[in-house]
Amino acid sequence: MSLLPANIERTIEEFSKLPGIGQKTAQRLTFYLLRKRPEDVTQFGEAVKELKNGIRYCTRCSNLTVSELCGICQNPKRDESVVCVVEEMMDLVALEKTGEYHGLYHVLHGVISPVDGVGPDDLTLVELVARLKKEPVKELILALNPSMEGEATIAYLMHQIRGSKLKVTRLARGIPVGGDLEYADSQTLRRALEGRMQY
Ligand SMILES: [Zn+2]
Repeated sequence: MSLLPANIERTIEEFSKLPGIGQKTAQRLTFYLLRKRPEDVTQFGEAVKELKNGIRYCTRCSNLTVSELCGICQNPKRDESVVCVVEEMMDLVALEKTGEYHGLYHVLHGVISPVDGVGPDDLTLVELVARLKKEPVKELILALNPSMEGEATIAYLMHQIRGSKLKVTRLARGIPVGGDLEYADSQTLRRALEGRMQY
């Protein structure tokens, strides 16, 4: 016999499957929801239920979108000559929040990590290289996290684009090694962007 009703146990179990959420936090979140009004709980459930509806990857930059091209790629005011390569969606969101970047993006959705079995083909690196050949890109900003995996990904990419006239830059230091871009505050990111250095 379980201590709690089955639907409560089930919600705790689902919360505990999320990254960074342990059993205790899963319980706290579940009991928090139980104290809310029924309509608030339904609203929360509906949002999760419909989360993936119609969501797809932008065919150009792999940002998440509901149409073929994402809002950034569709915006004629964005500078097509600059492409910023990021690991994850959260990094794109963090850079957008600085309000300082007006170019386009390319979201890799991960980094090369042999330990985790992630190779170049599991990311959008092939799409990026193809894109650089056909689009009027002059500068490529590598905004990858300063980790071993990030460095391995950069090395792979540099090899793929060797001999091209592309200006390749990376964000200035200021982001702690191993620290994620997504956790850097807007001002730190803005400075890192402004002070970017050529490879
Ligand atoms: Zn896009």
